[in-house]
Amino acid sequence: MRDPSLPPFATADRHGVRGWCPTAWRPMEAGDGWLMRLRPPFGRLGHAQALALHDAATRFGNGRIDLTNRGALQLRGVTEALWRPLIEQLVAAGLVDPIPERDARRAILLVPDWRTGDDTHRIASALLARIDELPDLPAKMGIAIDAGPAPALSGTPADFRIERGTGGGLILRAEGHAEGLPIDVDGAVDALVTLAHWFVATGGHRSGRMARHATPLPGMDALVAPLPPRSRAETIRAADGAFRGAPFGELEAGRLASLLSDGDARAIRLTPWRGVILEGARPGAEPSPDPDDPLLRVDACPGRPACPQATVATRAIARRLAPHVEGRLHVSGCAKGCACPGEADLVLTGCNGRFDLAHHARAGGPPFREGLTPDQIFALLGAS
Ligand code: SF4
Repeated sequence: MRDPSLPPFATADRHGVRGWCPTAWRPMEAGDGWLMRLRPPFGRLGHAQALALHDAATRFGNGRIDLTNRGALQLRGVTEALWRPLIEQLVAAGLVDPIPERDARRAILLVPDWRTGDDTHRIASALLARIDELPDLPAKMGIAIDAGPAPALSGTPADFRIERGTGGGLILRAEGHAEGLPIDVDGAVDALVTLAHWFVATGGHRSGRMARHATPLPGMDALVAPLPPRSRAETIRAADGAFRGAPFGELEAGRLASLLSDGDARAIRLTPWRGVILEGARPGAEPSPDPDDPLLRVDACPGRPACPQATVATRAIARRLAPHVEGRLHVSGCAKGCACPGEADLVLTGCNGRFDLAHHARAGGPPFREGLTPDQIFALLGAS
């Protein structure tokens, strides 16, 4: 019988697809062991935290760390016997909240070029201090604090966004709505907490996400549109540090440790863009990659053999196709589409050992070609 002190697994959904938004306290069973998702405060790892994470990944996991498209980290290959000492180490390092419910509320993404004392940092600090005031939201929901000179996280999944509106003031915008409520820095958390409670009180748990919640927003007048977004490259250039890419979000523990000495970085900032920013780093020996490198634009889940749902390998195919695909490519091991919940320009979805190919779709979207082998795909896309 399973030890009752161990955490509950993320369970299978009605399609039999496993793994619904794991946390550190509620791991998911993956093909290579348990997977735990961590959300460090401010999306930042100081030296001691990065070393603790490196130690945790190599001693208690299989050394593989994922960087997700929402700026979170995933530890992989954890075994049941090592989960308890691992989580104690992560809590001690400040990487996991000791209270599971509070840890689950930390799905907060900061625009990666924030500076100490700026609007993004002040709002995030206030929100973390008042995190207990947020209701329990559906597991996939998240908050983007994107209060730089113009929105930079518009293409990153989030449900509530604090961003810069036309006219230069801040707005709180619910996903799925073109305009948001004007707010100021001091009132931002009050407004966010109120909106989150309204969501829950109006049946938000049935909707699951803000964009699917059809209830009209509560008495919001004089709404304001967000400013046109900044590009990823522009945002990275504005950051205090050097960008380092992590294709597919793979960040081996050894690479994590070496990043700390790269350009004498003060800390590692997580981004949702398949890479990290080395805070305060001098330009190092390693040249900064182009943040718009095709390989950093590709989404591909671990696929076979890491995931038991997969019937196809994904990443080798994605690497080969990346330079040959205009726009966004998504290679998914199955229809769950873990690596990219939204639409991509070209989507390959694994099915019974082959791939279905779709345009402008999510994983599992209606295909225009079915049952393709990798060689057929390479020929079709000019990557032979
Ligand atoms: S999308 Fe990929 S990682 Fe997610 S369940 Fe399917 S095969 Fe596994």
